[in-house]
Amino acid sequence: MEFGYTEEQKMMRDLAAKIAQDFSDEYWQQIDEEHRHPQELCDALVAQGVLGMAIPEEYGGGGTGLLDLAIASESLAKHGVGMGGIGILVGGPVFGGYLISRHGNKEQKEKYLPGLVNGDMWAGAFTEPDAGSNVTNISTRAELNGDHYVVNGQKMFISHMEGAKHIAIYARTSPLDPAHKTRGLSILVGDLPDAHVEARPFKKLGARFVDTCAVFIDGMTIPRQNIVGEEGGVLKAMFDVLNPERIIVAASAVGTGLLAIRKAVEFANERAVWGERPISSYQGLQFPLAEAKVMLEVARLKVYEAAWLYDKGSPKCAMATTIAKYAASHGSIFAADRAIQTMGGSGYMCEYGVERLWRDLRLNAIAPVTNEMALNTIAQYDLGMPRSY
Ligand SMILES: Cc1cc2nc3c(=O)[nH]c(=O)nc-3n(C[C@H](O)[C@H](O)[C@H](O)COP(=O)(O)OP(=O)(O)OC[C@H]3O[C@@H](n4cnc5c(N)ncnc54)[C@H](O)[C@@H]3O)c2cc1C
Repeated sequence: MEFGYTEEQKMMRDLAAKIAQDFSDEYWQQIDEEHRHPQELCDALVAQGVLGMAIPEEYGGGGTGLLDLAIASESLAKHGVGMGGIGILVGGPVFGGYLISRHGNKEQKEKYLPGLVNGDMWAGAFTEPDAGSNVTNISTRAELNGDHYVVNGQKMFISHMEGAKHIAIYARTSPLDPAHKTRGLSILVGDLPDAHVEARPFKKLGARFVDTCAVFIDGMTIPRQNIVGEEGGVLKAMFDVLNPERIIVAASAVGTGLLAIRKAVEFANERAVWGERPISSYQGLQFPLAEAKVMLEVARLKVYEAAWLYDKGSPKCAMATTIAKYAASHGSIFAADRAIQTMGGSGYMCEYGVERLWRDLRLNAIAPVTNEMALNTIAQYDLGMPRSY
């Protein structure tokens, strides 16, 4: 067992920190107010090779593993980006990168992977109005008609519809079989924009660095060769996308939680309310931040382990990812909440940037998977308790 960073990992960690420091709090405040994609960060990540680092070298990428990408994601978050980079990190390397590099055929790799190194964004459309936690309920249909599929259905809460070049649609190519609910699910890659796809963005609490939409698909045609993996049997491909999504989100949450703690400590060291002593000297403020630090340090170990298992292709990755995702979201939301409390009224004000971290982190208890579903998975598959639903 080896716990240190390799030289290459240290380099990526430090590079990500340097990139993050080029983007001020004011920049992120503006992105939040304008509900805008941080294209400037995306350009910097492309220019420095971070966005393509996990894409295979033969397609122009860096050929690193998910662990390295997780380390870079955490570092970006910790050094100022917070969750602000997550739309980019998931929309490129995960929704497109891991889907195609693990399950695409040669033509698909040649077609899509170089674009991902250069910053192409993808939308990943799993969720539907009746298929959120219960993803096997997907009812969007893709019907084969000669050399193409015709897709009809509605997707819900789909991020990155604005500006995405491609959309990976998780659809049924055969009707739901109640005895084998995961059979008949396929992944099709379509190009955006498309006249048969309408996206209506929601207003939302946080994560305003990416749009999140209700998506109406009405007769979209997708060439037959754009199906990724086995038609009707994509469970493995689906989890080869969902697991890295959860890992990268969790890594970013750890970094963002640490950022919130740092901001709170800096504030508290300067603020005096009763005479000369700074408020940071009160145990009532120290303990919660120290507790948050413990939660995040432990979560980070699990995030790294999950990423390492993914890179090894181990089936143990799924449970490690579930635990990591839960621990990271729980610890980071707690950290941001306590950071706000430490700062009193200032913590509530937008100009200090900590309330934004909390709003952005709050999403992670809901997406990519809810914390209740994570606990269900742990209870059933790790503890061996009966399924409760
Ligand atoms: C900002 C944002 C961005 C998103 N981006 C994307 C995206 O890009 N692509 C995409 O496909 N999806 C996306 N999602 C969707 C996200 O993955 C779902 O919201 C999430 O999986 C939960 O599904 P749901 O909202 O339908 O909640 P539901 O499934 O309706 O759950 C509602 C509540 O019931 C609880 N619950 C449900 N079943 C159980 C059970 N068996 N036991 C205990 N509790 C249970 C849940 O934990 C939750 O608290 C996004 C969501 C948000 C909010």
